[in-house]
Amino acid sequence: MKVALLQRAWGTADAPHRVGDVFHRGDGDGWTHCAQGHKHWGLYGAAGLLLWHEDRVLLQHRALWSHHGGTWGLLGGARNRAETAEQAAQREAAEEAGLDVGSYTVTGRYVDDHGGWSYTTVVGRAMNAVVLTGLTGETLEVRWVPVSRLAELPLHPGFAATWDTVRAIA
Ligand SMILES: [Zn+2]
Repeated sequence: MKVALLQRAWGTADAPHRVGDVFHRGDGDGWTHCAQGHKHWGLYGAAGLLLWHEDRVLLQHRALWSHHGGTWGLLGGARNRAETAEQAAQREAAEEAGLDVGSYTVTGRYVDDHGGWSYTTVVGRAMNAVVLTGLTGETLEVRWVPVSRLAELPLHPGFAATWDTVRAIA
């Protein structure tokens, strides 16, 4: 019932919503609630890419209208039903910032399981700090941020909550 209402709010399942110049719709797009009572994006969970180059990490400045708009977090988004978390994170990073999957190596992952919904942080290491631009309306800016400067930015609460854990994976 809840899913049906959400689909109505977002348009029918057959009518993709337009984001920037990309027609983007996955079967995992939609809001849901976890067992801890939070509202989350991604019917099958979500995934993001924590990409390192030397002592910098790649962050997305989220559009003001988006969920937790104005904060900085990872490129990523909803998992589709048939995708692994790694595939979802890689696809989203490519769609949102044109990040080439051949430009980095995946080195680990961390699953933050809320019960009924989980967020997987996929950790990778990039050969170069390629300059990237947001390709969709979801992104104000994509920037390589020195880890020492992270505390100066308003971080997405989900990213902030797992940062001390996921930073140790790389
Ligand atoms: Zn939750």
